[in-house]
Amino acid sequence: MKDQILVIGACGQMGTELTTALRVQYGRDNVIAADIQVHPPGITNYMWLDVLDYTQLEKTVRECRITQIYLLTAMPPASGEQNAEDAWRSNVRGLLSVLKIAATYPLDKVFWPSSIAVFGPGSPKHNCPQQTWIEPNTVYGISKRAGEYWCNYYFEKYGVDVRSLRLPGLVSHTAPPGRGTTDYAVDIFHQAIATQNYTCFLSEETCLPMMYMPDAVRAALELMNAPKKNIKIRTSYNLAGMSFAPCDLAFAIKKHIPAFSINYQPDHRQAIADCWPVSLNDLPSRQDWGWQQQYDIDTMVTDMLQNLRTEKAVCTKMLM
Ligand code: NAD
Repeated sequence: MKDQILVIGACGQMGTELTTALRVQYGRDNVIAADIQVHPPGITNYMWLDVLDYTQLEKTVRECRITQIYLLTAMPPASGEQNAEDAWRSNVRGLLSVLKIAATYPLDKVFWPSSIAVFGPGSPKHNCPQQTWIEPNTVYGISKRAGEYWCNYYFEKYGVDVRSLRLPGLVSHTAPPGRGTTDYAVDIFHQAIATQNYTCFLSEETCLPMMYMPDAVRAALELMNAPKKNIKIRTSYNLAGMSFAPCDLAFAIKKHIPAFSINYQPDHRQAIADCWPVSLNDLPSRQDWGWQQQYDIDTMVTDMLQNLRTEKAVCTKMLM
């Protein structure tokens, strides 16, 4: 049967780029972009779909003959702390519906991202391994850890081929920065170009695992394209790219924009970041399905600034 892909949460930071990459691999007509946003201009083959509406989800899978789902919806950590029940519903309910449908039809494969937020204050700070002390202390982290167990359960009990990555903080130029704990690393670029100044909501030395979006998208595709027998971990794979603190990023940006300055006003997100590891050990990803990151902080900064400046120039031209 022909592959028919459904990307749920396609208008978000990762969804935007992952949908484009999937369309290169499978063709535009075979990749449906779904989200609860009003049809965004420029996105073709789009449908409004609320993953929490089981009837609509099931009807879509049946009528569109879906074979794979990429589920990218989630409420980020900082928002989750303000509204625990909504975050739990948003982060776990939708996953359970997708897993149930995957087991029933059955679907060929499911992709669902977990996060470094599964790690808590007791986890090793440096080179944090795949199997270790994992006691998340945020609503987001708890829901991601529960999601990992649900994925493993559906694989063990129903044979659902669900694959998952513990993503680090993602940096991307295609979507505006959100309000997440690592989103300073996106906003800083917009402010550096617009005003040459940025006030960071994390402290200078808060070092966290991070990744440039092209690497994250490639990781998702490579994991999903790997032979089934190679996938040994059915909770979620650690995935490492680079680790840096706001001062490291500011330093790398200053190489391109010498006038750039940064100051620090940590907010409630600092406490969340302080519980996460500084770096991850992703040996199982490297051994099982051949993961290798491409971007480091300098190549990422060069690419981000180049893309944001080009996009800004195009927007200014369109307004003239
Ligand atoms: P995002 O918040 O940018 O995008 C999520 C998208 O899901 C949005 O477009 C939103 O409109 C849509 N959505 C929300 N509720 C929905 C619903 N009920 N039905 C359908 N669509 C709905 O998220 P992102 O940053 O692209 O992250 C994607 C995934 O990766 C999430 O699971 C997230 O937890 C995980 N992750 C992201 C990061 C990161 O730094 N961005 C880090 C670790 C893990």
